[in-house]
Amino acid sequence: MITQRCWAEINLAALERNLRLIRDSLPPHVRYVSVVKADAYGHGIHPTAARLMQSGVDLFAVANIKEATEIREMGSGWPILILGPLLEEEDEALIEFDLIPTLSTEVELNRLCALSQKHQKQISVHLKIDSGMGRNGIWWNDAIPLIEEIKKHSEIKLCGALTHFAQPSDLSFTEEQRTRFLSILQNTEIHQKPGFLVHADNSSSLRSFDRNAIFNAVRIGLLQFGVSPPQGSILADLPVEPVLSFHAKLAMIKNLPEGTTLSYGRQYTLQRDSKIGIISAGYGDAIPLPCGNRAFGLINGQNYPLVGRVTMDQTLIDLTDAPSEIELGQTVTLIGRQKEKEILLTELATHAKTIPWELLCSITKRVPRVYTTIRE
Ligand SMILES: *Cc1c(COP(=O)(O)O)cnc(C)c1O
Repeated sequence: MITQRCWAEINLAALERNLRLIRDSLPPHVRYVSVVKADAYGHGIHPTAARLMQSGVDLFAVANIKEATEIREMGSGWPILILGPLLEEEDEALIEFDLIPTLSTEVELNRLCALSQKHQKQISVHLKIDSGMGRNGIWWNDAIPLIEEIKKHSEIKLCGALTHFAQPSDLSFTEEQRTRFLSILQNTEIHQKPGFLVHADNSSSLRSFDRNAIFNAVRIGLLQFGVSPPQGSILADLPVEPVLSFHAKLAMIKNLPEGTTLSYGRQYTLQRDSKIGIISAGYGDAIPLPCGNRAFGLINGQNYPLVGRVTMDQTLIDLTDAPSEIELGQTVTLIGRQKEKEILLTELATHAKTIPWELLCSITKRVPRVYTTIRE
């Protein structure tokens, strides 16, 4: 039998509870677009999407065709929106898998028209308007001519419009982005069609819905996984539960004398005779390099500091102050709860000098995802 040296535990029941909590805090007409790019933020696309389907999401959003096909192969009942720009050679997959692209340019429009004619099939699109992010989307001030052009093509069905905020913590710039976006809608009235989706907010902003009735969908990524965005948001106070925890086994314990330096680069010197544990995980799993000498691990519900530089496969932890005997094979929790104590993913991200989104994306393939599915 192969046992786990380290693993990520994914609590799908918590995911479902988070989804319901977020939904319940929004007016009932607001559509829930579940953002599951990057392998569902590292949680594993298949089990995650399956649970989200059962829990009642309205649409899925992903970054690219490959991610979209993985969801489409699970079922045909959910619209799938692709957030990123497509490469020309990917266009055919829109038809094959019944996917919705986000349209930003006239070049894309022409490609989609040709594709539609070739297959004799109408193509649904959402228009992406760049209101200040400077990434994909038509620059807001250039949007009206593109919209006029889209209107001329009956083979293209414009069924949504979206924008994306660059810095939700900056309220005045976000308001400016909102105003720019809304001015285009009000000028063109594209949103007046039944079923047309207008969306801007993600986990960090989430305030359009009560501010302006035009908005009728939200795109939720991070928050549904139980991680509150570090900058806060109107929904940041919702008691979402962490879905992912990360654990590793203690593989060795050794006594080392005062003055010994630890790990590569000798960045830590023992100030006393010490008991050092070896955790069987490193940056090749999910513990980012900057966590050395900064982050903590939980054993028996107690915090112990990581010491020395994190290596690819092993990380050192100082157990000198352990009040009771610590045994080989015990579980060290790097993200998650043990008894009364909890290490939040956002805390580990801070120690790793990164953001929670990136930390989730840096849990590698070597880490088995273990799913718990039971409703408590
Ligand atoms: C990733 C992404 C989201 C989700 O953002 P969260 O902060 O994780 O909720 C929403 N919209 C777009 C365009 C994205 O790229």
